[in-house]
Amino acid sequence: MAADTNRFFRVRVTAITDLTPSFRRFTFAGDDLAHYGDPGFDQRIKIVFPTRAVPLAAMPTGDDWYTAWRALPEAERPPFRTYTTRYVRNDVNEVDVDMVSHDVLGPASDWIARAAIGDEVLIFAPTTAHTGVSYGIDFVPPARVDSILLAGDETAAPAIAAILEQLPAEATGVVALEVPHADDIAYLPHHPGFEYRVGARDAAGRHSHLIASVTEAAAALAPAGRGADVEEVDIDHDILWEVPRTAKGGAALKSARLYAWLAGEAGAIKSLRRHLVAERGVDRRAVAFMGYWRVGRAEN
Ligand SMILES: Cc1cc2nc3c(=O)[nH]c(=O)nc-3n(C[C@H](O)[C@H](O)[C@H](O)COP(=O)(O)OP(=O)(O)OC[C@H]3O[C@@H](n4cnc5c(N)ncnc54)[C@H](O)[C@@H]3O)c2cc1C
Repeated sequence: MAADTNRFFRVRVTAITDLTPSFRRFTFAGDDLAHYGDPGFDQRIKIVFPTRAVPLAAMPTGDDWYTAWRALPEAERPPFRTYTTRYVRNDVNEVDVDMVSHDVLGPASDWIARAAIGDEVLIFAPTTAHTGVSYGIDFVPPARVDSILLAGDETAAPAIAAILEQLPAEATGVVALEVPHADDIAYLPHHPGFEYRVGARDAAGRHSHLIASVTEAAAALAPAGRGADVEEVDIDHDILWEVPRTAKGGAALKSARLYAWLAGEAGAIKSLRRHLVAERGVDRRAVAFMGYWRVGRAEN
């Protein structure tokens, strides 16, 4: 029988580290994490959280787990949310996930606020049997790019950090990031080829630093081109997500002046994408955009 390329791992918290005011690192251990796959960059994972009402044991984990999960009455479904693998240490059966501790508004934020050593979750992730293209990675730049723009809010910071650590030293670009507190700016690792436009959320409101810094970066990195129409996505009902790829999963372009990767709150990402593609004229095949969450709307 073929080995599973994605599956659930049952893990327990072995360390909780407050890296900055908003970023809390959870180190998870599990007997079979030697088989947890790490295809790289912004590899996304699903984490199933136990709640006071629904234990982890209620989660269907077989091959067709999603259909079985959907078939459960809503009140009996264990909730899961999407996160990013930060570090994998297969040799010692450990995985780190960095989670934003924000107001308790849903099952993940509730768990993050009260989790303790020994608490268990399930992580759905690639296994080490996974080879080839990972569709859980959304950072798919052309082979030749002059500059890379990595932009987002705090939920995108773990993915941006992983991407920066894995890019070669000669890569160049700009990081435009908005975080809740000034002390969160220290979260990102240094990359010698990147300029950092990282700022704290200010009185001007959510997204104002992010939108201003992306607008400035785009003006510096992308020559003004002919804007292309972008279709409007209803972000309160549909998912805002486009990762340009070939049919085989590779980058949609062989080369580009600028490759932009944008992730975070869907309203902000929608505005940024419109600015880059419709106003600035950046080739849409060189812009990946992902609505990671939406104000006022739970993930599922
Ligand atoms: C591919 C991908 C990768 C992600 N990686 C990470 C990661 O590595 N680390 C990380 O911390 N997050 C990450 N996120 C974001 C995370 O999945 C969401 O923030 C998630 O909705 C939190 O779940 P919740 O149960 O707290 O809230 P939900 O039940 O989903 O939502 C309840 C309410 O909380 C609000 N809400 C959700 N997130 C936030 C927030 N960050 N700040 C303020 N209000 C919020 C919603 O608008 C809603 O009103 C990622 C998302 C995606 C799609």
